[in-house]
Amino acid sequence: MHDDHDHPNDGDDGHAHPHHGAPPDPLVARTAALRESLVGRGLVDPATMQAILDLYEKEVGPHNGASVVARAWTDPEYLEWLRRDATAAIRAMGYGGRQGEHMVAVENTPSVHNMIVCTLCSCYPWPVLGLPPAWYKSHAYRARAVSEPRAVLREFGVVLPDSTEVRVWDSTAEVRYLVIPRRPAGTEGLSEAELAALVTRDSMIGTAVIAPR
Ligand code: FE
Repeated sequence: MHDDHDHPNDGDDGHAHPHHGAPPDPLVARTAALRESLVGRGLVDPATMQAILDLYEKEVGPHNGASVVARAWTDPEYLEWLRRDATAAIRAMGYGGRQGEHMVAVENTPSVHNMIVCTLCSCYPWPVLGLPPAWYKSHAYRARAVSEPRAVLREFGVVLPDSTEVRVWDSTAEVRYLVIPRRPAGTEGLSEAELAALVTRDSMIGTAVIAPR
């Protein structure tokens, strides 16, 4: 099953209507109606729902994934563990559970660039990245990431040499991916914490690369 998981957040960064004067988004109205129906039937407890939203908006976020990446950059044994069993290696850092039950780490190298998408909906590795940005859930990204990944990357400002293969990974309810971006040049002397501060959310989705220092 692909659609047996919940997607409680329908906005990006806490606001669902970024465009002033735009017509109401039918998805927002549908989400509100669905919420009302579930709460009305006692199937969903609003307080529990809010607690989950608070957790993923305030505590769980890309800083989790960034610490995984920084450790992978500095600890070859940890990197090896991530390659072998990303779910366990990530859980060992305290990040597991909902939407991260089966993780796969995909490593960027000079010859391979990885990018993640969910073509059917918005599956995303919550424990390491938090909730997905609105563009990740957009129809345009979901379709074009597969049909023309290099064009999408260019729009994100990422231009890769032709010799770099682009691999697009389609997330599902079963498997969620975390991109391990390339460690930027000029960071040899940095601590793990300093390295983690350089790792962006988009670099772990594969729609950004990290600039050299
Ligand atoms: Fe999905």
